Amino acid sequence: MPQTGYATSSGKVTAPQADLASVINQCYQCGKCSAGCPVATEMDLMPHQMVRLAVLGDLDRIAASKSIWLCLTCHTCGARCPNGIDVPALLDPIRHQILRDKMDTKGSPVPIFHKTFMDTIKTFGRVYELFLIGMYKLRTKKYFDDMELGMQMFKKGKLHLLPQKTGSLSEVKQVFKKSGLK
Ligand code: SF4
Ligand code: SF4
Repeated sequence: MPQTGYATSSGKVTAPQADLASVINQCYQCGKCSAGCPVATEMDLMPHQMVRLAVLGDLDRIAASKSIWLCLTCHTCGARCPNGIDVPALLDPIRHQILRDKMDTKGSPVPIFHKTFMDTIKTFGRVYELFLIGMYKLRTKKYFDDMELGMQMFKKGKLHLLPQKTGSLSEVKQVFKKSGLK
């Protein structure tokens, strides 16, 4: 039976729209979303826990979590959920608000990585690893972390010296423009 609670925000994060909130409120905590999530083992809040927090109106805890930045938007959770609850639909507006309002993310490098990744896509239309790594290191000032891993990737040809071309850069830029994400 659907829960009657309405997802509202207890703090800085804006509550989800009524239609999304009514979907989220159908959650009965079966955990199928978390069981299928490919990054659940790395998360500090599992997908079903984030949904529960949203139902309880504690969106600030979701915003302060590592999980919100680890979600791959793969939609596995939504496909597995018996109630059709798609966790990224809940997380995307929160991520946008954190970036748009420059909310405090308590020194976590994950939002910086997320922003740098999006800047890379906006600039090149696809991932350009060397630019991504360079910008990330400049922004975090963690210049020597993961050096060994980087060298291994370079030796295996995973890091291209020049950006690879994409034919749809103008379309990608349009998407960014429409989203309002800076
Ligand atoms: S699979 Fe759906 S109903 Fe089950 S816990 Fe996850 S969101 Fe809730
Ligand atoms: S969309 Fe996010 S929360 Fe859902 S299964 Fe994929 S990574 Fe996990």
